[in-house]
Amino acid sequence: MKANDILNIHNLKRTSCREGIIEIVMIAKQALSENEIRERLAGNYDRSTFYRSFKTLEEHKILHKIIVDNQLVKYALDNTVTHKVEHAHFYCNECNAVQCMNDVPVQKYQLPDGYSDIETEVLIKGRCANCKNQENID
Ligand SMILES: [Zn+2]
Ligand SMILES: [Zn+2]
Repeated sequence: MKANDILNIHNLKRTSCREGIIEIVMIAKQALSENEIRERLAGNYDRSTFYRSFKTLEEHKILHKIIVDNQLVKYALDNTVTHKVEHAHFYCNECNAVQCMNDVPVQKYQLPDGYSDIETEVLIKGRCANCKNQENID
């Protein structure tokens, strides 16, 4: 799926800024912060253009938000776009990378009577495969 297909599905007008943001998140191997996305975006968009495009994509849930803590928020392409089930996220304590664990589905938790869940977020912290490999080389 291409960036403009995704915009079409959501009935959003194609703009180069929106397409650019989607493409960056699509090819990234890990989730990115808002700043990282802006730094990678080619073309000179002013702050407000970027911000509006970014918010639109977030509101339409094309970008899903991964909150590690209040200092660190990352974004990845949303489940509904990539057609993957709700999945766990992984935070590496060593390199600070945040990744979608697409093969690790979020399980259903049994809640006490009277509680109903809307969404479940699972963030696993540890050491990523990249950092582990690095250790083997040294
Ligand atoms: Zn790592
Ligand atoms: Zn994810």
